[in-house]
Amino acid sequence: MSKRTFTMIKPDATAKGNTGAILSMINAAGFRIVAMKMLHLSAEKAGEFYGVHRERPFFGELVEFMSQGPITAAILEKDNAVEDFRKLIGATNPAQAAEGTIRKLYAASIGENAVHGSDSNENALIEGDFFFSKLEQF
Ligand code: GDP
Repeated sequence: MSKRTFTMIKPDATAKGNTGAILSMINAAGFRIVAMKMLHLSAEKAGEFYGVHRERPFFGELVEFMSQGPITAAILEKDNAVEDFRKLIGATNPAQAAEGTIRKLYAASIGENAVHGSDSNENALIEGDFFFSKLEQF
């Protein structure tokens, strides 16, 4: 059971002023923040982060969206972190997200869906290291 996952509060949620409310939900669900920063991704960096989706039809839209404004990146700690966080954020498409999930509450569409959550322990490590040096992970 892995204890860490990686999240981003995406530019749509930042622009709507939902960062604090989302962080409160994350804390209330029992996650501890062990790294956090706010930053504005360049299109190049957003494309690198989502490189696995390079061949998908929505890749251009995704890169444009993720580089349109600031995000908050964080590493979160909790038992069973990856799976429990995916449950907390809900389905990729907010129309299919369960009641009470972050995406149900704050996402507008499948593209502009408020938050990212790692989909595996391996990716959680890779994604956390993409944003934070070891000195910045507590
Ligand atoms: P996630 O793991 O739930 O974030 O979903 P995916 O790994 O499948 O997709 C990564 C991100 O790409 C999603 O969170 C969305 O922001 C975006 N995305 C996925 N599908 C679509 C789509 O059909 N259209 C657009 N514009 N963006 C999408």
